[in-house]
Amino acid sequence: MHSVLGAIRAALAVAWGLLALWPVPCAGDPLVELEGRTMGTGYSVLVCAEAGLPPRADLARGVEAILARIDAELSTWRDDSELARFNAARSTGWISVSPETAAVAVAALSVSRRTGGAFDPTVAPLVELWGFGRRPSLAEPDPEALARTRARVGYAALTAREVPPALRKARADLELDLSAIAKGRAVDALAEFLADQGARHFLVEIGGELRARSGRPDGRPWRVAVEAPEEDGAEPRAWAVLALADAALATSGDYRRTLEQDGVLRSHILDPRVGEPVGHDLASASVVADTAMQADALATALLVLGSRAGLRLAEEEGWAVLLIERRDGRLVEHTSTAFDRLTRIDRPPLARAGG
Ligand code: AMP
Ligand code: MG
Repeated sequence: MHSVLGAIRAALAVAWGLLALWPVPCAGDPLVELEGRTMGTGYSVLVCAEAGLPPRADLARGVEAILARIDAELSTWRDDSELARFNAARSTGWISVSPETAAVAVAALSVSRRTGGAFDPTVAPLVELWGFGRRPSLAEPDPEALARTRARVGYAALTAREVPPALRKARADLELDLSAIAKGRAVDALAEFLADQGARHFLVEIGGELRARSGRPDGRPWRVAVEAPEEDGAEPRAWAVLALADAALATSGDYRRTLEQDGVLRSHILDPRVGEPVGHDLASASVVADTAMQADALATALLVLGSRAGLRLAEEEGWAVLLIERRDGRLVEHTSTAFDRLTRIDRPPLARAGG
């Protein structure tokens, strides 16, 4: 029996627990907490309800409406999403899409170029072939099917423009999967909404991708945790705790979302350059960036690149990354120079590697 294990809730399962131990963070104002489900995972919003902010019910409605809109645009799981319609289309002319979808595609292509195709939004047919699509399966694809599918994948065959918003396929059978960036985009959209409502202090999270606006009103930062990569079922444990203000944190990991059968584990993240699930020892990649969309896409890309190439690129590009690798039965971390400049509150119990 295979099973699709639960979604990654990388940071917040732990961070919420830690937050709960600390004094109420809103310095006298009520702390509004909103929670729900979206994109196959959970979301949570913590916002300090300062004077002038709309009532809780209005905020909740606004949040739900934004999430519903983004799901209707970017979901790979619905036949009626804008993305599904684009995928089903067999035209090689410009296809009009919402401004949101166009912006996400433009950002995805930019990360594809900067990572040499480690991140690739056209990976959809490979996701399906390797059993991570709608019909989960662990059957090895036969070499011919793999070759045919690989020919359909490659970000160079996708063009995206924002004005007017449209996408174009160079191959009629090109299909997109934006799951590796959509949660981050949705977090940013919620952050923009809350800021528009006048909120100045908040923390937004979807499935472990999160973004903070300023610190807490008492001048202290939000504290967020990067979960230690453990096997599914284990209690979440913080590997690193960071002080986050006006920044986003995203994590990609192999430890919570794999297909498993008879001891065979298969990563849900594929290396589009070779057409196969990633098979190295990198257990998780976390990125701190200005936007959650950027952090989300980069975290996925780094998981494909692996520790060595990932760290080298992060240094070249100035990205703040924390990579956790399995080595000889232990977990070992690597951080980039930009990550080392962040305020880190934890004292990791396990060994740190250089670099
Ligand atoms: P994330 O959890 O953000 O790392 O996103 C992982 C999801 O993105 C997978 O479940 C696939 O749907 C999709 N995906 C897998 N491999 C890639 C890749 N190399 N580039 C972009 N998206 C990918
Ligand atoms: Mg991602």
